[in-house]
Amino acid sequence: MTQVFKFGGASVKDADGIKNLAEIVKLNSTKPLLIVISAMGKTTNALEKLTDSYFYQKEDIEQVFDEIKGYHFQILHQLFTDASHPVFDEIANTFVEIDWIIEDEPQDTYNFIYDQIVSVGELVSTKIVSHYLNYLDISNKWLDARSYIQTNNTYREAKIDWTKTESLIQKDLPKLLESQIAVTQGFIGNTSENFTTTLGREGSDFTAAIFASCLNAEAVTVWKDVPGILNADPKLFSDCHKFDELSYAEAIEMTYYGATVIHPKTIKPLQNKLIPLYVKPFLAPKENGTIIKEALVEITTPIVIVKQNQILVTLKTRDLSFITENHLKEIFKAFADANIKVNTLQISALSFSASFDFRADKFEAFKATVQSNYELRFNTGIKLMTIRHADENSIKKYITGEVYLEQRSRNTAQFVLKDE
Ligand code: ASP
Ligand code: MG
Repeated sequence: MTQVFKFGGASVKDADGIKNLAEIVKLNSTKPLLIVISAMGKTTNALEKLTDSYFYQKEDIEQVFDEIKGYHFQILHQLFTDASHPVFDEIANTFVEIDWIIEDEPQDTYNFIYDQIVSVGELVSTKIVSHYLNYLDISNKWLDARSYIQTNNTYREAKIDWTKTESLIQKDLPKLLESQIAVTQGFIGNTSENFTTTLGREGSDFTAAIFASCLNAEAVTVWKDVPGILNADPKLFSDCHKFDELSYAEAIEMTYYGATVIHPKTIKPLQNKLIPLYVKPFLAPKENGTIIKEALVEITTPIVIVKQNQILVTLKTRDLSFITENHLKEIFKAFADANIKVNTLQISALSFSASFDFRADKFEAFKATVQSNYELRFNTGIKLMTIRHADENSIKKYITGEVYLEQRSRNTAQFVLKDE
């Protein structure tokens, strides 16, 4: 049965990472294998910057683009000693697609242009890895994910057309995978008009889950720079605890509150088909990592999830009347229309407060709608901390600084606080 592997940007950030990926693939090449890969290192951030420079016609556009190309070619030279290898031309040609976009002034919407430019990160990373594996005699086929992953045209947050996607994947992939390893892109999709879309930042995990679900795969393995799923982010806290096993439900809750170890949309399609998800360390591929599956494991270790870059908004009616259900209806319509997902909320007699992920364009759209009826105040530089299975000790340990808003239920405590 088919295995789906996903390698994120950190695992392919340099030549050593790609060599390590090849070792992992070699260890696992006895079963049909589909490999989903993200853009290398911080490429997606760099391509976002390039999109910005192009859209706003900034001076630094050539410099930003040169850095991106330079980074990839440096890795290519480290992987392929023979500079006449066809991969060099192929990567150069793929970058030319960006040249074609940026040579004219922007005519399309920001989000459309974003997807056309940012998707190139995944196209080049997969071409490099696919060529490198073939170069090592790990025979594989490069696949364009856009021939399979079909979406609507909500650029930057495209929604999957599951029916079309499933039929395309089932049509020829199972057969192909019987004879060959396949390498494809995470994060990107295709509209019915054949334009490239992206599925939202960190969306490559989701891509792996879509392929796995449509292929009825045996398992998905996400290879990461952590030993597995930990109870807190090791970059922010010391003495973290690794879980050997988590239930789908716990994993969904964790990602819902903002755990970044797995993209939030990844778990559900796997749970529906009872496909286990392994999170394993790419530097110690024989270790067990964490397995997420249908399980009754009781978690007692508090799990800490930090969501940065939040905005806290407080609304008061302009006529200073009480906040009623009709106001809430109006406010939530404004959230929905601006495509804002509320993370926490608190309502008192005269005010309504909510926190959500800060994105300037969405916030401005929301503000424009509510401004006529409400007085709006806001704070940025805010983080949301969620503790699952919280107790007094864990709250004391993890929550420090000025708390703006606090909410507790039986299982979960949440704090909106200043991000220091
Ligand atoms: N490269 C994309 C990003 O950085 C998708 C991913 O890595 O999952 O958001
Ligand atoms: Mg990435």
